[in-house]
Amino acid sequence: MFSSARIFKSSNPQLRARAIVKATAYFNDPQKVLEASMGLGEAMPGIEIAQIPPDKYWPAVAGKKTNSAVQSMKNKKSVIGVLDLQGGVHEHLDHLDRLGIAYRRVKEKEDFEDLAGLIIPGGESSCLCRLLNIFGIKEVLLANYHRGLKIWGTCAGTILLAKSVVGEENCLGLIDIEVERNSFGSQLDSFISEAVIKVVDPEPIPLTFIRSPKIIKVGEKVNVLLKIDDYIAAAESENILVTVFHPELTGSLAFHRYFAIKCGIKFEVKKDSYTDPAWENYSWTRMARIA
Ligand code: GLN
Repeated sequence: MFSSARIFKSSNPQLRARAIVKATAYFNDPQKVLEASMGLGEAMPGIEIAQIPPDKYWPAVAGKKTNSAVQSMKNKKSVIGVLDLQGGVHEHLDHLDRLGIAYRRVKEKEDFEDLAGLIIPGGESSCLCRLLNIFGIKEVLLANYHRGLKIWGTCAGTILLAKSVVGEENCLGLIDIEVERNSFGSQLDSFISEAVIKVVDPEPIPLTFIRSPKIIKVGEKVNVLLKIDDYIAAAESENILVTVFHPELTGSLAFHRYFAIKCGIKFEVKKDSYTDPAWENYSWTRMARIA
């Protein structure tokens, strides 16, 4: 099957996603596969490894737990972790690296040591919640939260952090919001838009929704950052940030910068704009381990 994030590389993601589903469903019917392959617009650009400079896809940092910025930092609480159990981990690592923020993949209990913040990426919330329990990370995460760890959940991460999930048990229950999973419909109802969220960036921020939940209610101590139509797309409490969209799948670094500030991290702002012009759809691959 196709990967939800990568589908956005084609000129017409929705059409292409439908075609992939059809071709996969009728893989042994050549006529149906032929029909599915026609009139799809521009192809998804593949990742032509020969055209990517080696340091971009296989840097010294790939495979290491923390990037080199960590070693030089005296202030221990300046590292942001990305929960590395399932989902869009590399895209977040890439954004943190672009901002010069020290990052760490968080897979085990020990990886929580001295973290300033933790990002829970998008993926599949039911799967992530099970893995948190299976690997015994849930209690460590909760203990660290109660010691002051700041947490940002993107999409599935928002679902994990929500106090209430329509029709299901909650997982971590750390922010007083109610969410409804898959509230826009199926994977094929994923979409892209943009919005201005002044406290995060004075310029419009691109928004990528992939089988996202909706935040349908927030408690008194939760501040709404973005409301669209009948739902809330971004919100925060004192220690938690939630976005139902995926800033890590766009060139915008604004939310990563905003979260770093929330974590109390001071870092040099190298660029005037919060959008990195050097970002490409395949930028995350430099953070991926090649098996
Ligand atoms: N639909 C997924 C869930 O309910 C979330 C999708 C995402 O993280 N992009 O867990």
